[in-house]
Amino acid sequence: MKRVIAVDLGATNIRIVFCENSRIVFGPITVPTPGTPRNAEEITSLLTECIRHLTDREKIPGIEGIGVSAAGPVDHSDGSIVRPPNIPLARIPLVGPLEAEFGVPVRIINDCHAGILGEVYYGGISPKKNAVYLTMSTGIGAGIISGGKILLGMKGNAGEIGHFFVDDYFNSTCGCGFPGHWEAYASGHFLPGFFIRWCGDRGINLVDTSELSSDGVFFRIRQEREKFHQFLEDLGRINARGISAVNVAYEPECIIFDGSVIRENTDLILPYIEKYIDRFLPPPSMTISTLGGRAPLLGAAVIASGYDTLIGNFQPEQ
Ligand SMILES: [Zn+2]
Repeated sequence: MKRVIAVDLGATNIRIVFCENSRIVFGPITVPTPGTPRNAEEITSLLTECIRHLTDREKIPGIEGIGVSAAGPVDHSDGSIVRPPNIPLARIPLVGPLEAEFGVPVRIINDCHAGILGEVYYGGISPKKNAVYLTMSTGIGAGIISGGKILLGMKGNAGEIGHFFVDDYFNSTCGCGFPGHWEAYASGHFLPGFFIRWCGDRGINLVDTSELSSDGVFFRIRQEREKFHQFLEDLGRINARGISAVNVAYEPECIIFDGSVIRENTDLILPYIEKYIDRFLPPPSMTISTLGGRAPLLGAAVIASGYDTLIGNFQPEQ
């Protein structure tokens, strides 16, 4: 890796850094992801403006590549992102407009795949491992290394595990339109709705739920642990169904969790997953990312200078 720009286009924020010889040198510049852009050009113009701002401010003379980690599905065939979460656009072409603007190679990657690359190269995961990076934030998704190769799928979206079916009691509808998907219960976006529905089912009256966030849910649970103990058990069962499916699908040696929902509430989530996970195959080791939410950004820096699905082909300079 040489002199590159890494972009993390998330559901909530856009973060941009300049990396030189695999270290973050400047940044991040952080701006909110536009919630209601008029068109795709508004997104690419904002990215261009932020990259120009960073390179001008720090007097960076030239860059050799740009890597973009994007929340939601990507389409490697035309370098675009498709129906990103929180952005009501069907498709946002990124590679073409950014290459035209900066005259350097631009590569995009699904944020969970970026996350596993970040973990492999910067988080101390052995490249030979069969490992899963699993994010529980606005949505739920995974990046998988199997036999030393990153599993991309046909267009770059393997590991959309948030759409595993996990429940038919509450029948919560997922953002994709189908009922019972994991993300419809345990993601930051849907957890408040699930909590409200669960309380209604149990006859628990909640006051003022109009602006309840997932942080707010866990705050209330901490205030009245006894009252909501069973919610943690039920959420744990649902999470464990998802993790059990991950375990039998990919047989990883380890799962690295990331995303603000589980990072900030590990004690209320992880013990219940460990309690309820199926043991048909031995459960993998389960840990929290040590990269403090920067794994996708660091993965974007890895692909900025070109990448191969075979882990280990890129050698970060120390
Ligand atoms: Zn779904």
